[in-house]
Order: sequence, then structure tokens, then C-alpha cells
Amino acid sequence: MLQAPFPELDDLLEMIGEAGKRLSEIEASEGAAGNISVCVRWPIEPRSRFPLVEDIILPQHVPELAGATFLVSGSGRRLREIKDEPSANLGCIVVNPDGATGKLYISYHRRFEHVTSEFNSHLAVHYDQIVSNNTNFQAVIHAQPPHLTYLSHIPRYQNEQFLNSHLLRWQPELIINLPEGIGFVPFQIPSSPELMAGTVDSLRKHRIVIWAKHGVMARSDVSVKRAADRVEYAETAAKYEYLNLSAGEIGEGLSIDEIRNICKTFNVKQNIF
Ligand SMILES: [Zn+2]
Repeated sequence: MLQAPFPELDDLLEMIGEAGKRLSEIEASEGAAGNISVCVRWPIEPRSRFPLVEDIILPQHVPELAGATFLVSGSGRRLREIKDEPSANLGCIVVNPDGATGKLYISYHRRFEHVTSEFNSHLAVHYDQIVSNNTNFQAVIHAQPPHLTYLSHIPRYQNEQFLNSHLLRWQPELIINLPEGIGFVPFQIPSSPELMAGTVDSLRKHRIVIWAKHGVMARSDVSVKRAADRVEYAETAAKYEYLNLSAGEIGEGLSIDEIRNICKTFNVKQNIF
């Protein structure tokens, strides 16, 4: 939930661009992989950056989000290029009063036909979180960080308790930033209703979820860069775990007592360790 003064459209575009650039720097968005959306519930005037308008049907009914604005990456666009030309790579959707349709505002320079094909999952997560928490802002990112994704191919890491107790032991920051741990959704076809439903459910309990054998989805109700940070923390944890596997598992990691003491000191509530 953000307090006034609220970020303006250009600030939001800039922050989405910076998040996209960082995801690219950590190699979590090869080619045109990954997508970003933010939902804003204060009034935004899109036409200064997105003068053209098209009618669209939303992937699901979101009556409580009537009037909300979404900034969404375009299908096939590269996250690393958003920063240089945000309006060519993003669309702006305003939900109509019926909650079933919207207006897609776009630039003359748009480089995409439709918004990301994962918008169904993005919208479902926004809707679920906003209806339950009544926040006025939320960012959702899908990215494909290689170490996390690689570990999701190894059967024992497909168990959430095993996954989290092994990944969150490598740095004090990890349990502080991801106290609910990382969720795990078994493999589902990209853009499918099954992936959408599994993601919504897991993001109720976690701030980031692994899509098995594919990537991750992260959320934040503070900023899009905070959501990107969550991807980076989880990927760093996975990188340490991968290093340890490669080195013959000679690292001991933080002990359970050390992690519990960190949590006590920083007042972190968690039930992984
Ligand atoms: Zn993907």
C-alpha cells in the first residue's frame, strides 16, 4: 500500500525500466523471456505517453478493479529494452466500469500486437491480492533466473520444505527478505489456467513462487524494484546452492540456531527453520 504523494506515470515507467534492466543483468530474462505488470488504483492519465486506444476483453472478470490502471509489458518485448523506450514496450490498460473489458492505451511506436501472454496470471494475482489486502499498488514480475530454474528440475528441490531449508541458509538477508520462503508450483503449460490457479494460490502464502522447469513469479505492494529484488535474492540463494552442489556439498550454510538467532534479532516471523 502506497501513501501520497503517489508516483506519476513517468516515475512508474522509469522504475519498470530499471527493474527490467536489473533482471537482464542477472540473466533472468534471456531473449524476450519474462514480463512485468504493475497495478495502480489512483487516477492516472495515460494519454500523454499512450495516445492510441483499443477495446479489449480482460482474461477474467475483475469488478472490484473497475477504474484501476495496469502497465504491462508487450508480448515478445525484451525487458532490457523497456528502460530506453518504455511506451514502445509497454501497454496501459484501464479497467472499464463493467470489470470485464478494458481500454488498452498504446503509443504510436508500440512494438507489440498484444500484451504479454502471461497477463492472465498477472491479472489473477493482482485481483486476488488486491481483493484480499485492499492495496492501491502492486507489481508482478515473471522472470527466468537460471539457477532457481535448474534446481526446480531436481526432484528433491520440488518439495517446499527441502527447497527453502536448503536455499535460505546461505546468507542472513535471505530469511529476512523471504520469511515465508519460496513457493513451488509443479510444471504447468505456460499461460495455462492451471499455471494461473497454482500461482494465485502460492502467492497468497509467499512473495515469490517458482514455476517448475520454467522460472519464477514475484510480487510486491511497495515497488516494482522490490519485486525484482525478490527475484534476485531467491536467485542468489539458488546460486549458492548450485555452487555447493558443484563443490561436493562441502559448505555448511548457516545453522538452524544461527538462522533462529537472526530472526530473533530482526523480529522475523518464519516457520521454515
Ligand atoms: Zn516464461
